[in-house]
Amino acid sequence: MSHSGLDLFCWKAKENGLKITPQRTAIFRVLLKAKDHPTADDIYKRIVKKIPNISFDTVNRTLLTFSEVGLIKVVEGYGQAKRYDPDLGLHHHFRCIRCGRIIDVHNKDYDNIAVPAEITKRFTVTSKKVVLEGLCGTCGKD
Ligand SMILES: [Zn+2]
Ligand SMILES: [Zn+2]
Repeated sequence: MSHSGLDLFCWKAKENGLKITPQRTAIFRVLLKAKDHPTADDIYKRIVKKIPNISFDTVNRTLLTFSEVGLIKVVEGYGQAKRYDPDLGLHHHFRCIRCGRIIDVHNKDYDNIAVPAEITKRFTVTSKKVVLEGLCGTCGKD
């Protein structure tokens, strides 16, 4: 059985002894709808419309907790603010070097890239991801 959405949230929370609070549930709901790999600040701006008294610190700590227990992923960083990815499925990223958008890329060939033996001899590889960079459709037009 696969767990997705709020089911996954309840299941993972239980497994990790995480209390399911209305704030945590609300933050997770916002994450489920986010397709843009938002920062903590982006999430805060969305959640504060629903829960006006929530603090940025709460949102930030909750996101860190979620990533620690495997509910969401932290997007591979570039030294900027952490960006979060609620899509735990295997996929790849295209990052626009001008506007900073991170767009999901799905490609079977990328999924099946083999890790060379010289690398597996040195490291234990637990995930593989292709990251493409360039100009997105909007930025590439001028
Ligand atoms: Zn762009
Ligand atoms: Zn993604």
